[in-house]
Amino acid sequence: MVRINENYAKLPGSYLFSAIAKKVADFKEKHPGEQVISLGIGDVTKPLAPAIIEALHKAVDEMSAAETFHGYAPDLGYEFLRSAIAQNDYKDRGCDISADEIFVSDGAKCDSGNIQEIFALDNKIAVCDPVYPVYVDTNVMAGRTGAYNAEKENFDGVIYMPCTKENGFVPELPSEKPDIIYLCFPNNPTGSAITKSQLQEWVDYANKVGAVIIYDAAYEAYISQEEIPHSIYECEGARGCAIELRSFSKNAGFTGVRLGFTVVPKDLKCGEVSLHSLWARRHGTKYNGAPYIIQRAGEAVYSPEGKAQLKEQVAGYMENARAIYDGLKDAGYQVFGGLNAPYIWLRTPDGMTSWEFFDSLLARAHVVGTPGSGFGSCGEGYFRLTAFGTKENTLEALARIRRM
Ligand SMILES: *Cc1c(COP(=O)(O)O)cnc(C)c1O
Repeated sequence: MVRINENYAKLPGSYLFSAIAKKVADFKEKHPGEQVISLGIGDVTKPLAPAIIEALHKAVDEMSAAETFHGYAPDLGYEFLRSAIAQNDYKDRGCDISADEIFVSDGAKCDSGNIQEIFALDNKIAVCDPVYPVYVDTNVMAGRTGAYNAEKENFDGVIYMPCTKENGFVPELPSEKPDIIYLCFPNNPTGSAITKSQLQEWVDYANKVGAVIIYDAAYEAYISQEEIPHSIYECEGARGCAIELRSFSKNAGFTGVRLGFTVVPKDLKCGEVSLHSLWARRHGTKYNGAPYIIQRAGEAVYSPEGKAQLKEQVAGYMENARAIYDGLKDAGYQVFGGLNAPYIWLRTPDGMTSWEFFDSLLARAHVVGTPGSGFGSCGEGYFRLTAFGTKENTLEALARIRRM
């Protein structure tokens, strides 16, 4: 008889965003006339830029003629996209990464979940606390962790690295030695960034202890400060210890279109085995990687028009971030992030728990945010607001919070 993967049963019952959706639905049912504004879920709202729409139309038309039709995409992705990435995201920033080290995919979420499959089950993972939930959840499902510890609100067998106000939400090197280290900067949910010298310490540490860093740079387009690296490969020695995840979701509005990529340098080895050759065997190569049409849309992200249009989009979101940051600070809140990321991380007032503040915000301001505790135990007492709303909604939500 068929049996389930018991590891899936280790995950706690309620997923953060479904718990939020339920509370919001209950509120709307009881208060049908009220306009609820969401500064909660990390999804973009601006339409695709004209340069991208144009590329999509053109690629669709190509599919209608036998001479320009495209079937299965090549394994790593189309050369036109991989070389645009290698040039713009890496060579132009002084990083030694070539097109054949880039694996195009249908998004960073899938890659961040799937990448753990190339590593043995007895590797120990280290994650930031709080953290984007995908890294831990996929390791739980694979069986790389112990059981869920309800009291500590985390999983046994995982090294959690506290990210607190005291360390500027950038973790210290762990005292227990990990094998796989997940880092995400600029960070979701705290909005914090890591400087190049801080990141260099992590690279040196990983090389010293023989660990691999999985570096999620989904928010690199939001970096505004000079000293913040856009890629881990800006650090010396990173080719020998780091995998980088990137996405077109937050910089170009592809959350529904789906496109991302993962960089696995050819120098990256585990003993004699090249991780590049292992990742080349991943499931989801040409079959559910990104379609031709979407890869052409991705190429347009790097065209001069595309770059200018997307710079403007990102700047628009960052104006929201600035407004929330300044407005809440002015109202007496302790606020963090918002400078190199579209996320504002705030301390809940009056010693409220994250969920108490969620309820209060919904009831009194009709604004939805995300309780920090949903991202890990160190997120308790914090709250995340996102800058992805429209300008109008963001300013209205801010005004309501300030009136609370
Ligand atoms: C949004 C996000 C991603 C992007 O995921 P996609 O699957 O490319 O949409 C990756 N990492 C983090 C931390 C994110 O917040």
